[in-house]
Amino acid sequence: MTDPLTSGDFVAPVVRFAPSPTGRIHIGNARTALLNYFFARKHGGTFILRFDDTDAERSTEEYALGIEVDLAWLGVEPDRKFRQSERFALYDAAAEQLKRDGRLYPCYETQEELERRRRLQIARGAPPVYDRAALKMSEAERAALEAEGRRPHWRFKLEPETVYWRDLVRGECHIDCASLSDPVLIREDGSYLYTLPSVVDDHDSGVTHIIRGEDHVTNTAVQIQLFEALGGRAPHFAHHNLLIGADGQGLSKRTGALSIAGLREVGIETLAVAAMAALTGSSIAVQPVHSLPELAGLFDLSAISHSSARFDGEELKALSQRVLHGLGYEAVRDRLEALDIVGHKAEPLWLCARGNLEIFADIADWWAVVEGDIAPHGLDAEFARAAAENLPPEPWDEATWGAWTSALKQATGRKGRDLFHPLRLALTGREAGPELAKLLPLIGRPRALARLSA
Ligand code: GLU
Repeated sequence: MTDPLTSGDFVAPVVRFAPSPTGRIHIGNARTALLNYFFARKHGGTFILRFDDTDAERSTEEYALGIEVDLAWLGVEPDRKFRQSERFALYDAAAEQLKRDGRLYPCYETQEELERRRRLQIARGAPPVYDRAALKMSEAERAALEAEGRRPHWRFKLEPETVYWRDLVRGECHIDCASLSDPVLIREDGSYLYTLPSVVDDHDSGVTHIIRGEDHVTNTAVQIQLFEALGGRAPHFAHHNLLIGADGQGLSKRTGALSIAGLREVGIETLAVAAMAALTGSSIAVQPVHSLPELAGLFDLSAISHSSARFDGEELKALSQRVLHGLGYEAVRDRLEALDIVGHKAEPLWLCARGNLEIFADIADWWAVVEGDIAPHGLDAEFARAAAENLPPEPWDEATWGAWTSALKQATGRKGRDLFHPLRLALTGREAGPELAKLLPLIGRPRALARLSA
């Protein structure tokens, strides 16, 4: 078999992320988006964002816009973007072609009839596969039903053969289409189910690799037959394992669990979400990264493991902190500016306080410590006087704290926690925090003096 990456049947890959805008995306959807995006970037290809919004009842504009916001936050930038709801003419043309070729046929069974037949088949020990009764109907029988007001749904006539593909994650795969029911492509009301628009679009937009969750493995043989029925060739497939929560449950867009928007709101770092989404359930250790390209470089489809990818929220929180603690000033300059953390103290404050942050927004509290007001935590009068008297003159640097506390120790006989803890509390209003040797010069003498005697 030819190697799909080197066989020369495409110049640069075209991939797509195709969410239905029926909810906000969660970290599992982000996994699919990122794997596609990384693949496109790695091979100089194109990444398409396609909204599978043919279900007009459940799809909303708000969700579509929300998903774009979520992807932008993750750093995933589509090269192309379109919506299926704008492309019905294409699907109609494909449906017509299939009808002409006898591959799409009308069926009039109701749900109840189908269910009854299914039960009979199971009772007889036969596989519950659609019996193609509709194919045997005469023109007159169909006309009679139409006259009663019955409308058909349309099924794709499968070739009764085994379909093979070499999955870029799962290796050799095959599905015997003789054991499948002919899938319904069009409902009674004329609306399309997912399959036809998806294949038409993949074909029309020149998709070379379909990278998606393994919940779609079972659709693949049908889709390969449909590509071929439409005169095309199926692209390559890669079905990645699905992320599941610590409780062993899958994630659902409908419940909003672990949504990207929700994670962003509680302050989880983008790069932690991305690293967790991409690397969980692979042979590459989940690790803090400094940029999306760095993560893209680590990643490879062949690293995805075959079992499911379990992760838990606590691990994500911990990873987020590790990411945060490693972010350089340049990486956060804009975000600091958005919090009005600017000027010559911004960078040294970031570097001294980042290691103490749980979430990024906490930096504002440390900015208040060096630039704003904090609730006073006075010292006892005698110690306060000694502390103020021994405070060295400016200019201050990182040696000032040591010089000051040595002098204070001499003057008061205090040492250890007795000496340091009240000073920390008075200067920062907090029990713990960044090194005072670094913080003190940022607080500056006037503020320090005022806080010591508060
Ligand atoms: N809209 C489908 C989904 O979200 C796309 C599946 C596919 O990638 O083919 O599951």
